[in-house]
Amino acid sequence: MSTDTAGTADGRGRPYVIVGASLGGAKAAEALREAGHQGDIVLIGAEHERPYERPPLSKGYLLGKTPREKIYVHPPQWYSDHDVTLRLGTAVTSVDPVAHTVTLADAGRIEYAKLLLTTGSVPRRLPVPGAEQDGVHYLRRVEDSDRIRAALVPGARVVVIGAGWIGLETAAAARTAGAEVTVLEAAELPLLRVLGREVAQVFADLHRDHGVDLRFGAQVEELTGEGGTVTGVRLGDGTTVAADAVIVGIGVAPDTALAESAGLALDNGVKTDEYLRTSDPDIHAAGDVANAFHPLYGRHIRVEHWANALNQPQTAARAMLGQDTPYDRVPYFFTDQYDLGMEYTGYVEPGGYDRVVFRGDVKANEFIAFWLADGRVLAGMNVNVWDVTDPIRELIVSKRVVDADRLTDPKIPLGEL
Ligand code: NAP
Repeated sequence: MSTDTAGTADGRGRPYVIVGASLGGAKAAEALREAGHQGDIVLIGAEHERPYERPPLSKGYLLGKTPREKIYVHPPQWYSDHDVTLRLGTAVTSVDPVAHTVTLADAGRIEYAKLLLTTGSVPRRLPVPGAEQDGVHYLRRVEDSDRIRAALVPGARVVVIGAGWIGLETAAAARTAGAEVTVLEAAELPLLRVLGREVAQVFADLHRDHGVDLRFGAQVEELTGEGGTVTGVRLGDGTTVAADAVIVGIGVAPDTALAESAGLALDNGVKTDEYLRTSDPDIHAAGDVANAFHPLYGRHIRVEHWANALNQPQTAARAMLGQDTPYDRVPYFFTDQYDLGMEYTGYVEPGGYDRVVFRGDVKANEFIAFWLADGRVLAGMNVNVWDVTDPIRELIVSKRVVDADRLTDPKIPLGEL
């Protein structure tokens, strides 16, 4: 066993260690340097790829439109140029907050002055017999996207389990590639918990219009196979859907294993304050794994989206340097499916709204949907309408009661509401 004190050798003290070399980790290293941190930074990741962005894995990269070099957060030389020690293919197995060390899978240890956890989340596994056979895909890493892309060939029978963001985006990619696609969803509509019935219907119509066989209320009982390769999905009603490939997108769980080893306060992820400090003053958390107190909502929220991994690290990095500024950005995410592009700004608990109103042409997929509660805008989703996220965000942050008739009138600029 060795203790890596590389950070102490030059007299600058122990390094700042970031565990999780994905978008969040890379952005944190960048933010530490931008905020003036001159000490050593060690960025550790279990994957062998340098930090990359995940949205293209189920969109442009999966479709073969976005080249691989475009998915990376920084060019390879950025890390050495910024004196960031990048340790890839290195799993951290535990954190000792008293000794201020992280232990690596090879039993080596690295000391830290401050630690940031950007460990993200792990896909939920399908808990049925046959789910671990060849031809069953989960999508988290770039190599998963490569394997799925290879399976999306004209005429292939692709079964997608889960009509969430991964399910719908991969279904769109599969149809675009000419595959026959069936989507199996346990709920009555796609994205029902996130979007509610009114807007979930838009996504159901979109996929049906593109020839996807959508089956709701589906109970997956077993994945059938032959010689260790998947051949179909057997459902609770006794039917079997034949499959050459199965893609599972049934949600993720925050990767809290290290936080648990450190004894940090957990509650649906790692609990942090608005500065992204955990219950240990020298450990911070950002991205999917962080259940952060949000000043706008007056409560903790955990957001599993790209924009959070992009922006939260700046707040965490500043807090690591004692420059506290709260993270109060309104959540944001986007999707591209077929010719529908959308951005969603806001945050709505499942069922936490009383009304959805539309501005524009829903049938033509060119509109803005607003989720309202007590006359106030909680969220807005612009579909094939652009450059409106700023006024939508302003409506949300102002918490003003708005006149729904004016809100839905495309002749009245959003900025005038
Ligand atoms: P997700 O968006 O949470 O959707 C999972 C879906 O699977 C839900 O509709 C869920 O229904 C359903 N489901 C759960 N168990 C099922 C089962 N046994 N059989 C059939 N359906 C089942 O998760 P995801 O699509 O796996 O995506 C993973 C993460 O990546 C999420 O955090 C997502 O936000 C993120 N992501 C985001 C984007 C984007 O922002 N555009 C794109 C890709 C991925 P219930 O809700 O009823 O459980």
